[in-house]
Amino acid sequence: MPWIYLLAACLFVVGLKMLGSAATARKGNLISAIGMLLAIVATLLDHEIISFGWIIIGLALGSVIGAVIAYRVKMTAMPEMVALLNGSGGLASLLVGWGEYHMHPVTPVFTATAIYLAVLIGGITTTGSLLAYGKLSEKISGQARVFPNQQIVNGLLLVLAVLFGIVFAAHPESNYFIFILAILLSLVLGVLAVLPIGGADMPVVISLLNSYSGLAAAAAGFIIANNVLIVAGSLVGASGIILTRIMCKAMNRSLSHVLFSGFGSATARAEEGETAPGEVKAMTPEDAYFVLEAARSVVIVPGYGMAVAQAQHVVKELGALLEANGAEVKYAIHPVAGRMPGHMNVLLAEADVDYDQLVEMDAINPLLPTMDVAIVIGANDVVNPAARESESSPIYGMPIINVDQARTVFVLKRSLASGFAGVENPLFFKENTRMIFGDAKKTVQAMVGEFKIS
Ligand code: NDP
Repeated sequence: MPWIYLLAACLFVVGLKMLGSAATARKGNLISAIGMLLAIVATLLDHEIISFGWIIIGLALGSVIGAVIAYRVKMTAMPEMVALLNGSGGLASLLVGWGEYHMHPVTPVFTATAIYLAVLIGGITTTGSLLAYGKLSEKISGQARVFPNQQIVNGLLLVLAVLFGIVFAAHPESNYFIFILAILLSLVLGVLAVLPIGGADMPVVISLLNSYSGLAAAAAGFIIANNVLIVAGSLVGASGIILTRIMCKAMNRSLSHVLFSGFGSATARAEEGETAPGEVKAMTPEDAYFVLEAARSVVIVPGYGMAVAQAQHVVKELGALLEANGAEVKYAIHPVAGRMPGHMNVLLAEADVDYDQLVEMDAINPLLPTMDVAIVIGANDVVNPAARESESSPIYGMPIINVDQARTVFVLKRSLASGFAGVENPLFFKENTRMIFGDAKKTVQAMVGEFKIS
């Protein structure tokens, strides 16, 4: 059914394009899902499929597990779920490669190369994603782990993997042992690749692993000569790489620095050294109300803490009250605020905040010196001025939202604890900053309450 596959591929591309804008993203998701449904139906109608027994069992099992996980997952746990799904994609490609090799050990060089790539990239994606899942869900420490000569060891293992691949592709039928060794090697490589990455670099790893899972799927498509799998895999591979690049740019880091520098490891933290000078000035929501009441321009900067507190609905309520009071209200979105790309956009969309009020970092920064109040809601790293001011800081050079340039800054969080990058934040000690300690939702509720009773 080549024309159904062609139609499905077109729907994937159109859907993906629509995901690029918040206004069309939902429709884009639906269009891509229809494309996937068409691709599945067309594949099931393939005359080479003789027995549907296993397919139905797999479909039922996968659908139930997927539905339960998707239903139960908390918004804050989304990145871990994406990591797990990437891992499943990698494992599926590995198994397709392995299964095909078992059925047809005598195979041309091209197919043998595709089998090897599907297994190698699939294996790296599987264990890399599992480790990323463990780190993000804090089941294991999220810190980067660097051991001596790690890069050399990784490099040597990669060379070994390439050599195994050449030997295997030349004579697949007589190299089962090398094939098994390559599977083990890929699983080890996945762990070693993610081990030295931690803290604030995890989003980049997730999107890179997403890209790997796409490449493994494309290789699996070549093995079983399924065009739609090749197209879908390539789209995932390419979009994952593009997203990786966008995030590296947002952190002002190169991909190699993210992958190999051990950012956030004990060694990297020791170099941090400096402690922020100054005094912390705390305020109550009730006192903050008087400043907000007089403000004519307010920028709200959400971060991961807003997701934890599930404060988005009450934040929207505060925004509406400020506007009703005559203030101009904007929401400033940092590309890596939260724990996944677009995290803040999703939360604010859930609370029905108008898209037009969302302003990206580059657009809001020139306006900040003219704004009366910046309300930082559970954000930390993305507003840390050390990224601009302190050359010795591990996040130096990362673009941030310059909230410290607003006339008054309210920082809503529970303590002075550092953010995901584990770096101290001098913003808390600035002259124009007032810390409002407590759970973000309760604090904003208290502010809303003040507006309502006055
Ligand atoms: P951070 O992780 O830097 O800071 C979040 C802050 O929220 C914490 O300091 C915490 O302080 C506070 N917080 C937690 N719970 C609550 C609560 N209930 N009420 C109020 N405050 C709360 O978040 P940012 O969004 O500023 O930065 C994101 C970081 O995560 C960046 O380093 C980014 O690179 C990284 N990252 C981003 C991903 C993405 O794709 N967007 C994915 C993975 C990581 P306290 O404990 O004192 O309350």
